[in-house]
Amino acid sequence: MGSFDKIVNLCKNRGFIFPGSEIYDGLANTWDYGPVGVELKNNIKRAWWKKFVQEADNSFGVDADIFMNSKVWDASGHTASFSDPKMDCKCCKTRHRADNLIDAHSKKTVNPDLMSNEEMEQYIYNNKVPCPKCGKCDWTNIRNFNLMFSTSRGVTDEGQNLIYLRPETAQGEFVNFLNVQRSMRAKVPFGIAQIGKAFRNEVTPGNFTFRTIEFEQMEHQWFCKAENSLADYEVYKKKALDFLLSIGFNPEHLRYHDHDKLAHYAKAACDIQFLYPIGWEELNGIHHRGDWDLSRHQEYSGKSMLYLDPYTNEKYIPNVVEYSIGADRLTLAVLCEAYDEQTLEGGDTRVVMHFHPAIAPYKVAVLPLQKNLSEKAMEVYRKLSKNFMVTYDEAGSIGKRYRRQDEIGTPMCVTIDFDTLEDNSVTIRDRDTMEQIRLPIEKLVEYVSEKVQY
Ligand code: ATP
Repeated sequence: MGSFDKIVNLCKNRGFIFPGSEIYDGLANTWDYGPVGVELKNNIKRAWWKKFVQEADNSFGVDADIFMNSKVWDASGHTASFSDPKMDCKCCKTRHRADNLIDAHSKKTVNPDLMSNEEMEQYIYNNKVPCPKCGKCDWTNIRNFNLMFSTSRGVTDEGQNLIYLRPETAQGEFVNFLNVQRSMRAKVPFGIAQIGKAFRNEVTPGNFTFRTIEFEQMEHQWFCKAENSLADYEVYKKKALDFLLSIGFNPEHLRYHDHDKLAHYAKAACDIQFLYPIGWEELNGIHHRGDWDLSRHQEYSGKSMLYLDPYTNEKYIPNVVEYSIGADRLTLAVLCEAYDEQTLEGGDTRVVMHFHPAIAPYKVAVLPLQKNLSEKAMEVYRKLSKNFMVTYDEAGSIGKRYRRQDEIGTPMCVTIDFDTLEDNSVTIRDRDTMEQIRLPIEKLVEYVSEKVQY
């Protein structure tokens, strides 16, 4: 695993992630995925969808609008209480989250989640917690800062309505509960999944793409009977971990972290944390949500959310087990996990990204040994690119070209040499072992397919 600085540099230089609006000196905490990064992130999203929709029993996907009727956010509680406790430093005028100040000062030995705003203020004053920017200790009181971005909708200045950019994708699943249940003739228990953008006006964004103001979430809501909900919660805890292991995470870099403070409607909640270069931090959450969400939507919309069990004729509002993971936070974890610096025989060093082949941005690099082999190499490239993301490189020594592919984690390099013209075979080099084998071109697609299968 590399340091954050090394990963940020590699991301910029190798086309994974660039600072947003860079030619205008950027816009703080916005990031653009480059040609290599977009492939990585898309592959991660595809792997997740495969596990939680395609291969899952009784799960359905939706793609809801970012804008929703504002009553949705009243029902969900976001307009009233989706806020962070912020404090301003009176000396340097920077803004900070009180809970983060306590976490950092106490080295996480004190849990601010269990404190009221008054208790957090007391802790900060009693312990003279300094401002991380200027070192002084002169704070305003805590004020709750709503994290939702708002905008207005309407064609005349007078008729403008306040609407919000969704701060989570989950409500798109809840408001479509009845639609999905009816149109798909779904029977409880069933799941609704969604991948989409969410927006939060975070008080303290940062640490590269770990916490940003615009990000993508991958969420799965499991609608089940109350009496099965705790057992299903355990199932989703395991499924969430298994998914991470299946895309190549080392189990020693992952751990469960139970929430100390539960919402009044919840019976259980936990995160899975990953050992980022900045320490253990949340990667995803699994939350038991009781029947809170559907009950609130029933109350605010006036539409019945009762489910009629066709076998027992019971009528009830299902409970929900929520599993939510940020696609960007996960992509960052994948980058950290994959990063490796190796010293090779002969003293050379290489940076290699050990991505699981299924999520690697490019599956194969096609490399003609010399430029006058490019016609044959392009033939191989065209054949492979009908099936996979493939890259082509004929510039520089073969050693340098291998290094470039190692840095973007391409699992296989195919070299075309003069023998290829005679025997229609190519050499394939494995990214991790650096071993090489010879294979007829007609077997190539099948060989690569097996290697990148997920
Ligand atoms: P945190 O405690 O880190 O603020 P959270 O508990 O508010 O996260 P949830 O609301 O449960 O997070 O969101 C689910 C997931 O969405 C998180 O586990 C994380 O992967 C991702 N996520 C949340 N906020 C952000 C953000 N600002 N930037 C990037 N990803 C985020």
